Amino acid sequence: MSQRIYNFSAGPAVLPVPVLDEARENLHSLGETGIGIMEHSHRSKAFLAVYNETVERCRELAGIPDDYHILFLQGGASSQFFMAPMNFLTPDQTADFLVTGAWSKKAIAEAKRFGKTHIVCSSDDSNFNQIPTERNYSENPRYVHFTSNNTIFGTQFKTEPEIPAGATLVCDASSDIFSRPIDVTKYGMIYAGAQKNLGPSGVTLVIIHDDLVQSGSKDIPTMLQYRTHAEKESAFNTPPTFGIYIMGLVLKWIQNSGGVVELEKVNQQKAGKLYDYLDESQLFQGTAESDSRSLMNVTFVTGDAELDARFIETATARGLDGLKGHRSVGGMRASLYNAFPPEGVDALIELMREFEEGHR
Ligand SMILES: *Cc1c(COP(=O)(O)O)cnc(C)c1O
Repeated sequence: MSQRIYNFSAGPAVLPVPVLDEARENLHSLGETGIGIMEHSHRSKAFLAVYNETVERCRELAGIPDDYHILFLQGGASSQFFMAPMNFLTPDQTADFLVTGAWSKKAIAEAKRFGKTHIVCSSDDSNFNQIPTERNYSENPRYVHFTSNNTIFGTQFKTEPEIPAGATLVCDASSDIFSRPIDVTKYGMIYAGAQKNLGPSGVTLVIIHDDLVQSGSKDIPTMLQYRTHAEKESAFNTPPTFGIYIMGLVLKWIQNSGGVVELEKVNQQKAGKLYDYLDESQLFQGTAESDSRSLMNVTFVTGDAELDARFIETATARGLDGLKGHRSVGGMRASLYNAFPPEGVDALIELMREFEEGHR
């Protein structure tokens, strides 16, 4: 088998090696069943055990109360951009958005199709390099939507925003879910495409309060109602069985790693080291304001696009892959999700120091 390299990709992204090892074992036969994990019926006893275990681990890990549903949907996080307003917003109602990057812009664009929208704050005029602290909510928002971590711009909310009393909080947590503890009871709904912190692409985790589910429109296609998936435990139609299985293994890996409390410490150490180096470097600069920095996606530049390209090329040749920044920021982006090993951060900093020496 060929050697694994350091994969800084923003998504799909690195998965824990024990997860890949266990999955490999079960590709041919899930346990003693003689049928591989991808080949089992979603109604089989064997798969139902996988499903139940994944739900259970999710509840344990994040302290999710029983009045929240845990759903495994398809269509990516991007489908939640329209599915949420389609269910919860009517033309006379307003949804409030904290606009902190490309993904929140996409979310608000879809909500406009179903009702009124209001911008609570936006960092668009500084190319989303910070999380605004000034916020203005509308009179009576149906819900408030925010993106907890801005994958492209390397910024992250330290904690959930304070919202008006009685409002429901909806969060796109695609790129930082389970990277730190959160109080789920503060949210009406949390969603995340799996391919950053949870597993493979093709499955979206939705954690949603039952009151919100029940309040959803009944006048939209069956497959697009949260109610359908809540009532049928994500098996109204064929769910993404392999993705659910891998997510279960990732959740087990998180539990075996000491849970989200422990992971947060490790994530702070990993990103902290890199930011410390960026703060002292004469060549590389972080692009996000220091009080808004993400622990998951660290964005940085040299200020010279040609030098950036040379650095990325040098890194790739050294087995540090996926460091090219998103085109809207340029430069470099190091994605340091839960499964990214601390040694990879050390290797990156070592290379950056060396590169800096060579370009004085
Ligand atoms: C990657 C990402 C998305 C898009 O996810 P898809 O599953 O590709 O639709 C949405 N929001 C955030 C914050 C992301 O990082």
